Amino acid sequence: MGESVVQRDDPIAAIATAPGRGGIGVVRVSGMNLTVLAQALLGAVPRPRLATKAVFRDARGEALDEGIALYFATPHSYTGEDVLELQGHGGPVVMRMLLRRCIELGARVAQPGEFTRRAFLNDKLDLAQAEGVADLIEAATDSAARCALRSLRGEFSAAIEVLLRQLIELRMLVEAALDFPEEDIDTVAPVDIAQRLGRLRQTIETALARSRQGSLLRTGLHVVLAGQPNVGKSSLLNRLAGEELAIVTHIPGTTRDSVRQAIHIDGVPINIVDTAGLRDTQDAVEQLGIARAWSEIGKADVVLLLVDARAGVTSQDLELVARIPQGVRRLFVHNKIDLLGARPRPPSDDALTSAYISAKNGAGIDLLRAELLAIAGWRQGTEDLFMARERHLIALRQAAHHAARAGEQFSRPELLAEELRLAQEQLKHYRRIRGG
Ligand code: GDP
Repeated sequence: MGESVVQRDDPIAAIATAPGRGGIGVVRVSGMNLTVLAQALLGAVPRPRLATKAVFRDARGEALDEGIALYFATPHSYTGEDVLELQGHGGPVVMRMLLRRCIELGARVAQPGEFTRRAFLNDKLDLAQAEGVADLIEAATDSAARCALRSLRGEFSAAIEVLLRQLIELRMLVEAALDFPEEDIDTVAPVDIAQRLGRLRQTIETALARSRQGSLLRTGLHVVLAGQPNVGKSSLLNRLAGEELAIVTHIPGTTRDSVRQAIHIDGVPINIVDTAGLRDTQDAVEQLGIARAWSEIGKADVVLLLVDARAGVTSQDLELVARIPQGVRRLFVHNKIDLLGARPRPPSDDALTSAYISAKNGAGIDLLRAELLAIAGWRQGTEDLFMARERHLIALRQAAHHAARAGEQFSRPELLAEELRLAQEQLKHYRRIRGG
């Protein structure tokens, strides 16, 4: 891959570690030729890939810090260019001085993601891998992190590669039949084509299922808790989050603003917003909270509409439900069943899908958690997921669509060939360019 390294304009530098104080901080530099910079900063170019103790010096030769320098010569580096990593003492001032020195020596401050972008442009990573880097850093749960790492290590790209290979072989068969229609019929037995197409569709479906689940780990489920004041919204949020978060009191209208909490169930990130009690009020602050609650509801995947089990669903609740936008799932949660001596029940699937819980003693909470996962479309125990983006899902769905259309065109091979070409078109951007 050495010869494919693309010449970029200028060396870039950035503090690679998170802001704040730490034992060690890292400044990273990438550029086509960093030997002059390294010489000026360290007094010598470190041997590639060898941890080298060094003094980092300013223009007058005075020490700025001392630490470990790591040098990776092009193309054997993360970006494919020369990369210099300076591990200094992890204080913000030291890091800033080091960065400033690198800039003095000709580097410019890297934009967010620019190292990974160069890695991508230099064919060190493919697109899915580059996105895997970002997803890994952003991962909200262990499962999400593992899943992102799988994409980063090229598993998504490899699966697409398998798919593309099947697709290309099939196209060759179909197109050969088109080019030589009178030739030996046996070479392109239609049965073979049908079987291969069946296998291809199966492969696409599997990749799609793995990606769909993985994408859930990335985006999570957006849940809004709504309902009349005092029905137990804050209590339920605390119960789901497992810690005291919102203020719980018996005075209606305590939760004046939305409280957010990110929890996870079975590794799926769940973003919960507890909204201000939705009631008619003259209080200006409370009205503001209510307006915000409605804006949250508009963005939700699912609204949990809490009601007091003793009162059941009231006309006010039904009015509230009527205002929930189409496409937002809704679930009635009857809370305080402890006061009725009732038992938790799994959600029934009538017009008003309902769950029965006690936020106070925890009854029914597990059933509610399971229901949230079901609403999210999460299948428990799914292994080997890909951290997919919406774009990947769209491409796979389109490919599945064209493969299905191809299956209807056995009597018209030229249309069959065209559908396969369109399917391949959808996936070509996700080819693997490097071993995982
Ligand atoms: P919110 O206004 O809807 O957020 O309601 P809160 O969570 O502040 O709860 C209002 C009152 O109901 C508090 O006194 C809670 O302790 C009480 N409460 C909440 N959930 C339950 C429950 O499941 N059982 C009983 N007995 N009381 C509850």
